[in-house]
Amino acid sequence: MAPRYHIDTIPVWDALHKQEECLLCILRRQTEHLLADRYLGGSVMEPSTRIRVNEKGFCQAHHKMLFQRQNKLGHALLMLSHLKEVRRKLDSKPLVQKNKQGSGFFSFKSKSSANKNFALDILTSGCVLCDGLEENINRYAYTILHLWKTDKAFQKEFSASKGVCLPDANLLIQMSEKHLTGQDGSHFRDTLVNLLAESFSRLEEELEWFTLKFDYRNSDKSWGTSKDALERSITKLRGWSVGKDPGKED
Ligand SMILES: [Zn+2]
Ligand SMILES: [Zn+2]
Repeated sequence: MAPRYHIDTIPVWDALHKQEECLLCILRRQTEHLLADRYLGGSVMEPSTRIRVNEKGFCQAHHKMLFQRQNKLGHALLMLSHLKEVRRKLDSKPLVQKNKQGSGFFSFKSKSSANKNFALDILTSGCVLCDGLEENINRYAYTILHLWKTDKAFQKEFSASKGVCLPDANLLIQMSEKHLTGQDGSHFRDTLVNLLAESFSRLEEELEWFTLKFDYRNSDKSWGTSKDALERSITKLRGWSVGKDPGKED
């Protein structure tokens, strides 16, 4: 395995020790917060990163995240450079040209062209934070495979954990087919599938008790572990989106 992937074992271990529904979702959310802070701390941003931010901008979800950080000056400065870059692209031929009335709106040069929306698609779909996140998560996923292959203690602890969510199991399985060959690979994939099966039957019970607690006859009974079963079931099925933010410390 490539040596550049070997640096991130400590965060992977830390996430595993939290014993939540998905250790990759913890790492993803931590990375998301880290990147958001980094982009807003404009002065420490590397020139190459700044160029990519100007070029791509951010998706809606990540704008929301940046906006919630209450650094409106930092956010506005990022947007000012990005706005200028978008404006420059819209002005540049042959992608788009001003319409004949000169009303300031933009129209496409060739209406018959199959990819006439190409330029606008690019301008409205990129996100530099999504890109950074994907890169980091792939590196963490790779690190999990590396630890599985080289560290028996990790193998043991991972096998006894709640594993990962369904989308991240998919990511790990696909990656392992490429990077974890032979016995190591099939053992890893069997373990992932077993962990999913265990998690689903556990969550089914917890979620069922959660629903039964709404019956007044059960109101005095203990919640057991079911109080956040809805949030955890959602995490297991689709990755983290609701409930306690796994990227923030308690
Ligand atoms: Zn996940
Ligand atoms: Zn994004």
